Amino acid sequence: MSFDVNEAGFYGDFGGAYVPEILYANVETLKNEYKKILADPDFQTEFQDLLANYVGRPSPLYLAKRLSERYGCKIYLKREDLNHTGAHKINNAIGQILLARRMGKTRIIAETGAGQHGVATATVCALMGMECIVYMGKTDVERQNLNVRKMEMLGAKVVPVTSGNMTLKDACNEAIRDWCCHPADTFYVIGSTVGPHPYPDLVAQLQSVISKEIKWQTKEKEGRDYPDYLVACVGGGSNAAGTIYEYLDEPRTKIILAEAAGKGIDTGESAATIHLGTVGILHGAKTLLMQDADGQVQEPYSISAGLDYPGIGPMHANMSKKGRSEVLAVTDDEALTAAMELTRLEGIIPALESAHALAVFQQKKFKKDDVIVLCLSGRGDKDMETYIQLKIKN
Ligand SMILES: *Cc1c(COP(=O)(O)O)cnc(C)c1O
Repeated sequence: MSFDVNEAGFYGDFGGAYVPEILYANVETLKNEYKKILADPDFQTEFQDLLANYVGRPSPLYLAKRLSERYGCKIYLKREDLNHTGAHKINNAIGQILLARRMGKTRIIAETGAGQHGVATATVCALMGMECIVYMGKTDVERQNLNVRKMEMLGAKVVPVTSGNMTLKDACNEAIRDWCCHPADTFYVIGSTVGPHPYPDLVAQLQSVISKEIKWQTKEKEGRDYPDYLVACVGGGSNAAGTIYEYLDEPRTKIILAEAAGKGIDTGESAATIHLGTVGILHGAKTLLMQDADGQVQEPYSISAGLDYPGIGPMHANMSKKGRSEVLAVTDDEALTAAMELTRLEGIIPALESAHALAVFQQKKFKKDDVIVLCLSGRGDKDMETYIQLKIKN
């Protein structure tokens, strides 16, 4: 059984492309073009060159000895935190903007929550000399000021969104509205494995470089090209999709994903979409989302802005439903404990999102010979304010 997308853009019951009439042609063109362009040797040469020399790939696969000792198993960290701009998001931003150029688009728009995807997109637009407009909820503009300044310094225009709760979901809506007004010259760069088909597949393929590297790196270090477990955090699901992509049909590799439980899944303040979500349509895809009885999307909460999304990529909705992945809900407190632990044991300050993946070790026991590869999706620089405010104890 394959957990990849089918021709119609579905992962089992989830996915598809539910878009307004005016965007139909755009999404259809993208659907007809993306596979051809991604397979084009010229595209691949340019993409691979930028991944190597601009992003700094391959990212190391690092055996975390002291962390492994603490949990009695063998833990490797896939160091996406060492990428240019500090997370995995740059892989996708480069790929989509190269694609946009080949499709003759001159204007790039993006949505952003914490600002990480906005910064990655603004970075690549600066590199390629392209116009860049980033939609960001007004609440996020205020609480993520450093990223706003970075985007502006990079030459992007940041538009504060004042509708709804003024956060990520509202920024997505506004970006879609912009796209509807400028369908001819504009490319919408989506930051995760969400949105209408073909975006979830496009983003998964662009991020799949992570698992392609894991394959040869595990072979090099362990003598076999598969780990026993892959672990990643899920917001929309892109770093997780990239980490597992080459292993979807590898039965010897189990998949554990961590979503944000916020203050606890029963508290009403969480972003645990797979635990709490029901089927609905969000941002152009049929998926699991947090909604009330009337279908109103509920405001998610997590200490980590990158996991604070009320939906989940359709790929992950399907994999968890079919039992291919095990999804754990990790609270703010568990993530903070894991962040401090990695910092003190390995000298690596992780992003709060990645700390949710690290917290899996507090919930689950592994065997001594188990080889675990965990995607360290980003570095903690952007979260220092939160870490300082909480005065994490040593
Ligand atoms: C954005 C972000 C995430 C969450 O997004 P996914 O699409 O689920 O990967 C995770 N980690 C970091 C560091 C991020 O910036």
